[in-house]
Amino acid sequence: MKINEFIESIKQLGINITDDMINKLNKYYEMLISWNEKINLTSITQKEEVYLKHFYDSLTLIKSYDLTKNISICDIGTGAGFPGLVLKVVFPNLNVTLVDALNKRVKFLNEVIKELNLKNIVAVHQRAEDFAKENREKFDIVTSRAVAKLNILNEICLPMVKINGYFIPMKANIEDEINLSKKSIQELNYNIEEVISFTLPKENSIRNLIKIKKIGKTKEKYPRNFDKIKKNPL
Ligand code: SAM
Repeated sequence: MKINEFIESIKQLGINITDDMINKLNKYYEMLISWNEKINLTSITQKEEVYLKHFYDSLTLIKSYDLTKNISICDIGTGAGFPGLVLKVVFPNLNVTLVDALNKRVKFLNEVIKELNLKNIVAVHQRAEDFAKENREKFDIVTSRAVAKLNILNEICLPMVKINGYFIPMKANIEDEINLSKKSIQELNYNIEEVISFTLPKENSIRNLIKIKKIGKTKEKYPRNFDKIKKNPL
């Protein structure tokens, strides 16, 4: 997707991007490509593809929640910053926490944060399972793109959500993942409010945003399958 197509497509998502944000995304792209020669950040490197499959795709979270509000958002397994860092550039009002288990990627994120002069954003080098234990009911929104199956993600991400907040995983393929996790989600005081399915522009691959609301206190201790998760990490 060329820059003008990117600007037009995100306009259709309701996003009016400024010149400063476009410059920041361009800088982010240049750093991604440069660092990718030394450490593995992404297999997608062609500029038009990065703008479509990483930048545009990250911004589609807006389909599920009004991101212009002053809210806290945590991105679990953010990798090179997708979706969390892209969201921070375009929605500077967000208070963003990026979590990844791989230190090299966290170093990259910190360099981008510094270079783009972003405020109210932190990159944390920690396993999500451990981070979750220390950060219960802390975020308005928790998200995660392309990290693990829903039943595993739920155990880690749901406890971090504030009451009335949302866990919104971004997934290409959901097959029977929702059916397999539905019962435990309800038992534990969460509710699948909506599944928003759509296709990416140009190449038409399927995307899903699963909007899971925390409706009350969780009685059970989380993560329930902690030992199992430790043995079979994300
Ligand atoms: N979300 C990014 C994206 O959409 O491009 C990255 C997806 S990548 C397939 C999965 C990421 O999750 C990697 O960066 C990996 O280091 C991270 N990860 C895997 N297991 C993890 C864990 N237990 N805790 C935190 N991060 C983890």
